[in-house]
Formats: sequence, C-alpha cells, structure tokens
Amino acid sequence: MIVVKFSGSAVANAEKLKTAAKIINSETSCRYVVVSSPGKNLPDDIKITDMLYILHSKFQSREGYNEMLKKIAEQFMSIILELGITFDIDREIAILKEDLLAGESADYIASRGEFIMAKIFAKMLNWEFVDAAKIIFFDADGKLEDARTFATASEVLSKYEHAVIPGFYGSLPNGKIKTFPRGGGDITGAIIARAVKADLFEKCTANTNFFSADPSIVSEPKIIQTLTYSEALEINYTGIKIIHDEAAFLLKDTEIPTKVRNINTPSSEGTLITPTKDLTGNITVCIAGRRNFNIIHIEKFGINRFYGFGEKLFGIFARYNAPCEHCLSGIHKISVVVKTPMFDLKRNEILREIESIIQPDSLSLERDLSIILTIGEGTGRTYGILDKIASSLAHEKINIRMLDQGSDDLNVILGVSDKDYDAAIRTLYHAMIV
Ligand code: ASP
Repeated sequence: MIVVKFSGSAVANAEKLKTAAKIINSETSCRYVVVSSPGKNLPDDIKITDMLYILHSKFQSREGYNEMLKKIAEQFMSIILELGITFDIDREIAILKEDLLAGESADYIASRGEFIMAKIFAKMLNWEFVDAAKIIFFDADGKLEDARTFATASEVLSKYEHAVIPGFYGSLPNGKIKTFPRGGGDITGAIIARAVKADLFEKCTANTNFFSADPSIVSEPKIIQTLTYSEALEINYTGIKIIHDEAAFLLKDTEIPTKVRNINTPSSEGTLITPTKDLTGNITVCIAGRRNFNIIHIEKFGINRFYGFGEKLFGIFARYNAPCEHCLSGIHKISVVVKTPMFDLKRNEILREIESIIQPDSLSLERDLSIILTIGEGTGRTYGILDKIASSLAHEKINIRMLDQGSDDLNVILGVSDKDYDAAIRTLYHAMIV
C-alpha cells in the first residue's frame, strides 16, 4: 500500500493536478493522498500559505485585507474552473473570512490552504476527504501525540478505501488548529504512512531532482538514486531539503521507504530513501556544503583537565542565540565553527565573554570558511576515504583548513576557504562519486 504526498509545487494549478490524478490512478495500491496547499506558478508569485499568513497579519494590524483574500480566492477559482468540477469555493472563502473576523489564529488561517486544496482534490478524484484535525493530535505544549495520532488515524482511515488528507496541521486538546513547521506537509505524509503501515511513502514535487552535487557547480551531476534517512538528514543540513527533517525522523526507524519523484520528469526513477542500506560499492552518495562560516580558536593549556569547560564555553553561545555548528577539540585547544550572519551580530560580546569567562591563553578568529560534507553511511568504517579527499584536493592545490570525520559514521566534514568552495566541490565529486 502506498501513501502519496503532493507538495505545493505539484498542485499549483489545474494542469499539475491533472498530472497528479494520473499518477494516483496509475498506482492501484495508492489508498491515501496527502496534499499541500497550491505553490507558486511563477517565481515571483506568492504561494497560498504565505498569502494566508499575510492575510492574517494584515487583519491583525487593521490594514486592508480584502485584496489578499481576493487573490487567494482567484487562485482556487482558476483551478476549479479549469478542472471543470463543481465546488463551492465562494462558500469556503466566505467561511475563511468569517473565521478571520472571529479572530482565529495565524495557524488556523494558514491551514486553510491545505484544507481547501484537499477538499478540491477529493472532489476531483471522487475520494473521501478526511480532515487532519480529526486524526492528528498535539498535546497542550504543541508536541505531537504520536501514539494517539497513529491509533486514531489508522482506525479512521481503515474505514475508507481511498481518502485525501490535508497536510501541515492537526489539532490541540482544546480543538484549535496547530500547524507543523513550514514545509510540514511531509510530516503529515510520514504520519499517515506510519499509521496505516504503508509499504511505501511517495513524495511528489514539481521542483527539482536531487543531485549528488550542486548542479550549478558541477555539470550534469548524477541524480541520487538511493540514500538512507540519516544521509538525507545530513544533506538537509546543507539546505537542500529532500524530505522534511521531522518526517525523516518519523520514518527512520520503520520499514517504510520514501520515494521522492519529480512529476515533470515521469520517466526518471527519482530518489529512494530507505531506513538502512547495504554497505557495498561506493558509499559516498553526495558532496554538499555551505559557505560563510567562521572558526573561533580557543587555546588554553590543559583544557582536557578543566571541569565544566564545555558548559561554560557553550553557555556563552547559548546566551547569545548563536548556534555552534561544529566543534573540534584537541588537548590544549578547542575550535568552534559558527555561521557568519548569526555570529556577526554578537561577535564582540561573544569574544569578550570568552576572554573573561574562559581566560584563554590565546583567542583567534578565522573568517571566510566554507564547510563541505562528503556524505555516506559507512564513511567511518571504510578505509581510503580521507586519502581520496586529501589527495584529490592537494592535486588541485586546495588547502584543507579543517577536517572532522566525526564518530557517527555518516560523513567527513571539511573546511576550505570560501574562494576554493566551487573547485573543492567539483574535485570531490569527481574523486568520490564518478
Ligand atoms: N503549505 C505549507 C508551507 O508552505 C506546508 C507544505 O507545503 O508542506 O510551508
């Protein structure tokens, strides 16, 4: 049994919805579909979820909101007209307006994009519509009540041969709507897949395929054919979202794989994300990275014998809301990697506190650092990986400024100068992937 989730890009207009319907009708084992609200048609468009947030904030700040409401109605209206289905969109928009005037929350208003979209899709397919608020539950602190959610979703959905469920939200104990973080349609899809014990979760987008290196740097890189959830989470860190982090966490310890497909390239197999993988052949699946980091080097004789050192040091970053991205430690030295924009805002205060609380023998800052990850489960158990990295980069005269194999077996993280970033990605791709 397959649960299919369509991202906003794959339901942005009537034509895409027709493709989506074709995909569903060709998969006889697809019983449940999760949809996001319609995405952008053109790069400069505003997606419906964003329009709904704007609508809510305009109403709150007593600005005119009718224009925004009209735009939302128009996008849904054009979908319905082109699909040629009977659907009372005026009524849905009138309810949305009433709820807005009644002071409903931003979460509730934003959730109406998926709510209306799922109703339209259910009508188009002639399937049951099941409101996510009736099967996905949060506790009073906003934490997903997973056991109750899985049990209820499984029981409710088992009554229907086919159903469409809106993504992105569930309900709080007081019955009010709460949304997941942005992009949370994937989380709903993963919840439904787990609840109904699906054999496969399929995520359909119209955005892009997932490549083993950035296609704007490497010409025609390979599409990633298979990877594990843990590897996907590493790739997500670099900003390429294959699947939402929370969805990957929900599926990581199950038997359910996820297939990510681009509906614009139906002949391509897409990318399969699996809970585990066989460690044979080339284990590096992707070379990815990010620019713009700083490293703070803190030198102090005998750091290894200093009780509570970590607590004191990281406490400083915590107080200034500056996340430490990576940390490398030696016997008399510790180096902390931080992302430039966040750190820059509080740089002087953070360095001053390090001076006064840690009292280092020396403190220095290196700027313009890029972080590159060679990602692949089994990295820590495979010999020769560091050799490939070091020798290929040395051959191109690219200096490695930082190197961390980590203990999690998933990657090697290396730091190079920002100016060497593109060349390093290309070099590592050719040395480690093809
Ligand atoms: N519509 C929501 C968002 O834009 C959720 C999703 O698309 O998955 O974040």
